[in-house]
Amino acid sequence: MIDLITGTLSIRQAMRILIAAVTLSVFATLVRLGPFSADTYSFASNFAWTLLLGLIMVATFNTMVTRPLIGIIRALAVINPLKAGLSTIATPAGHENDELGHLVARLNLLLGTMAVRDCERSRHQEALAKSEERLRLAITATRSGVWDINLETREHWWSPEFPAALGYAPDELVPAPSTWRSLVHPDDLPDIMKKWDARVQGTGKTFRLVYRMRSKSGAWVWVKDRVLIIRNNEGKPRRYTGVMRDITAQKLAEDQLHYLSTHDRLTNLPNRNLIQDRLAQALAGACASNGKVAVLFLDIDRFKLINESVGHEAADGLLCTVAERLPDAVGVSHTLGRLNGDEFVAILAGVGEPEIARCARAMLAVMREPFMLDNRPLQLTASIGISVFPEDAADVVALMKHADAAINQAKAGGGNSYRFYTAQMQDHALARLALEQNLYEAMERSELELWYQPKVCVHTLKILGFEALLRWPRAGGGYVPPSEFIPVAEETGLILPIGDMVLETACRQLGVWREAGRRAVPIAINVSAKQLKNRALVDRISERLGYYDLSPGLLQIEITESVLLDDVEMTVALLRELRDLGVGIAIDDFGTGYSSLAYLRRLPIGTLKIDRAFIRDLPDNAEDATMTAAIIGIGRQLGLRLVAEGVETQGQLAFLRAAGCDEMQGFLFSPARPAEDFAGITHYNTHGNPANLAVLPPARAVNARA
Ligand code: C2E
Ligand code: CA
Ligand code: CA
Repeated sequence: MIDLITGTLSIRQAMRILIAAVTLSVFATLVRLGPFSADTYSFASNFAWTLLLGLIMVATFNTMVTRPLIGIIRALAVINPLKAGLSTIATPAGHENDELGHLVARLNLLLGTMAVRDCERSRHQEALAKSEERLRLAITATRSGVWDINLETREHWWSPEFPAALGYAPDELVPAPSTWRSLVHPDDLPDIMKKWDARVQGTGKTFRLVYRMRSKSGAWVWVKDRVLIIRNNEGKPRRYTGVMRDITAQKLAEDQLHYLSTHDRLTNLPNRNLIQDRLAQALAGACASNGKVAVLFLDIDRFKLINESVGHEAADGLLCTVAERLPDAVGVSHTLGRLNGDEFVAILAGVGEPEIARCARAMLAVMREPFMLDNRPLQLTASIGISVFPEDAADVVALMKHADAAINQAKAGGGNSYRFYTAQMQDHALARLALEQNLYEAMERSELELWYQPKVCVHTLKILGFEALLRWPRAGGGYVPPSEFIPVAEETGLILPIGDMVLETACRQLGVWREAGRRAVPIAINVSAKQLKNRALVDRISERLGYYDLSPGLLQIEITESVLLDDVEMTVALLRELRDLGVGIAIDDFGTGYSSLAYLRRLPIGTLKIDRAFIRDLPDNAEDATMTAAIIGIGRQLGLRLVAEGVETQGQLAFLRAAGCDEMQGFLFSPARPAEDFAGITHYNTHGNPANLAVLPPARAVNARA
């Protein structure tokens, strides 16, 4: 009847109310007057009163009920039930305590409750949206695919990141265990299922899987899956849920790192780590099968010198070629690796001694084939040391140590050979260790002595200088040869304090001889490569010379070509400083090293000492004679003084004189002796005996060149 939204009466509704009121009035009048009343007037007046009464009643109802109701309905109409917020309806005036007032109060209570609920709901919704957003961000940020398998409802779900990780759009993959299974690498699936079953049987909550899945492009993607098992009260799984992440890049980096840590960068051969692993595996296998395992160490002979003369780059190229050739000799079924520098190692498992020796010979043979360097052939040789399990040792470290000891023996024998480890080698290694200890103590107790060997003019036989040589008296008598203890001193670094003692002693001796009024001749000290590694030696020499007030020309240093092995530039610079200081520099053992004439030109040297090896068989050995003459010729051309070492015979002396050598040194005149032994000796006679200048034949004195 009433438009509830607008609260207004339509005309038709008003007409219906009017007709109803009129009909009611007529009916009420007829009832009151009776149907047969002919009194029209009284009927009309009755009808009029009744109608008036009806209209008053309608108007009163309208004012008292309908209008407040319409007000309430209007107030309700503007309230949006979908919008949160507290709204109230005003109680119509004068109806505070009647039914309408109560109705409004109830409605307000209802609205209030709704508003509170709504507020709570929107707060929840907001929180939910936020947490969902956070979860989504987290998933996106970690690029993880989240998945869920509900075993009870058989519902399967995964987040869009799951298919995305494999390059699929979300609708391209149906979330289902069968889809997942079809994408897992067939090699990985059995392991996954095994692990999965084991974990499900247990009581654990989570476990991790790493496996490969095929991506849309067909490439294999490494994934890490963290699985959460949700169990029911009986401990049976009712739901699996997990986070899957693409770890391909990480896996690749890990693989790369692992490769780098187990392989040699230059040759890509297994490095020491991997070799030790493989050896350990081979030993375990051999223990089980009662087999043998051989460790073959191969070391290129004189590689340091080759390295220096051809340059590091070319030497690296050589090592790569070696790495390419050796597998032919070792065989693909065995392990070949590179330990460091020019050291290669082969591990042969399940082989007998004849096969081991055959393999060693094959390795030596491929090494002897010429290597091409700048289109020129270069000949190399190598040495091999072999240790065998179980005869020589039972563990990795000892086997490798023994192979190393064996290689030293092979090298000591001149190289280009192989040696099986023997127990004597172990004795040798122990003896060396003892020597190291003894040398240390000898140094502490100042037991090392410096002796002097004269250098003599080939013509006048006058002493032109001395070479200072170390002597180490043995406890039980005799002396430990320098060739035995100098290499140990060099290896252990003891050569630095020892070298300093030599310098100090030689300078002091020069001072003593000066005080004694002896004609001043230089003393040459041997300086090893280790001492020439930094400026300390230059400073120390200059300081000692100053301390004893010596002319720098009275000190000479003898160096071998090996000083040039490491840093040529720096060594040359240091030598120049020494030369500028006035100290003489001699190349020792010339002819035995690799150094080229090009080097000689760059070095600030004044003297060449021809190695004893060339002198020994003079004058009968034609080859040595030619070589010695050639060295003397080159030396002269470079303006150097020439000193022959190890002169023992008159024949050698005569040859050297004729060939144009300047000085000589050797047992013909004197071995190294304590300084006191030379008191009063300034020259020798032709028989090599100490003599006075006065008795020297005049003819020779005329020929004197020095
Ligand atoms: P080197 O510098 O070549 O010394 C010459 C060696 O030849 C000395 O051996 C000397 O005794 C020996 N010799 C001299 N004349 C003859 C001869 O006529 N016949 C024979 N057969 N040998 C002769 P030594 O004293 O045994 O020294 C060996 C090496 O030890 C030296 O070779 C040198 O390299 C090293 N050395 C000796 N003293 C020192 C030192 O103070 N410092 C350094 N760094 N090395 C030293
Ligand atoms: Ca020397
Ligand atoms: Ca020498």
